[in-house]
Amino acid sequence: MRVLAVVNQKGGVGKTTTTVNLGAALATRGRRCLVLDLDSQSNLTTSLGLRIAEDGYSTYDVLVDQEPLADAVLETSVPNLIACPSDPSLAAADLQIAAGEPDLRRRAFRLRQSLSDFAQSDAAAFVLVDCPPSLGLLTVNALVAADALLVPMQCEFFAMQGLSRLLDTVARIQRAWNPGLDLSGVLFTMVDRRTNLSREVIAEVRSKLGDRVFRTTIPRSVRAAEAPSYGLPVQTFDPRSKAAVAYTELAEEVLSR
Ligand code: ATP
Ligand code: MG
Repeated sequence: MRVLAVVNQKGGVGKTTTTVNLGAALATRGRRCLVLDLDSQSNLTTSLGLRIAEDGYSTYDVLVDQEPLADAVLETSVPNLIACPSDPSLAAADLQIAAGEPDLRRRAFRLRQSLSDFAQSDAAAFVLVDCPPSLGLLTVNALVAADALLVPMQCEFFAMQGLSRLLDTVARIQRAWNPGLDLSGVLFTMVDRRTNLSREVIAEVRSKLGDRVFRTTIPRSVRAAEAPSYGLPVQTFDPRSKAAVAYTELAEEVLSR
């Protein structure tokens, strides 16, 4: 089971969109894929049109009460794509974990433990973790649990600065807890190829990170922004849209790495 953390402490860069659509593309290629909502905004959960049952579990129960992940998992409208939903209670999870667990390492290993139990059941080939826009305990849990990180990024002037801060955190996690953590790649999202800024930012980041930048870029697409309100990945909503095609290409690239 390969675990990818979809992470960037900056908000609104396309983490959730990438988790949903890469997950759907991998699932469509026959890889059973779990997407896990690690954000109390629950955008991933809503984007897939999911609702937690009255007595159902969510990411909060998995992390705080250590309920089995398998008991929280829901089927989605896409065959082979399963999801662990979140709700607003997750906003308090870091404080509650901290209150109940004096050991720093054990606080950071909650998700890794849940995923390693889940892996025993052979229920998924891929796990994509949709991180919140911060570098708090939840994101640290994702980085400790992951084999690699995927960093969606917009083409902005400050892109490289934000990335350096993220990579500092990653280096600390690698040293302390997860030496195998790999930067699988930076993914440019909402790209408008016509602008000079896009081309310049992509060229600058490529010159620094080389093949750690995905060849695939995701174009800005109205259809990608509309799909979540229908509770569908863009592949189902409009399979021929530019964004759907790009996420399928990204899945091929992820599978080939
Ligand atoms: P947050 O940090 O708040 O969790 P995020 O990084 O998960 O945000 P998204 O929610 O995926 O970012 O995207 C932010 C907004 O941009 C959303 O309204 C989404 O629909 C839109 N968006 C994402 N990707 C595209 C795209 N390729 N084309 C057009 N709009 C997009
Ligand atoms: Mg999000």
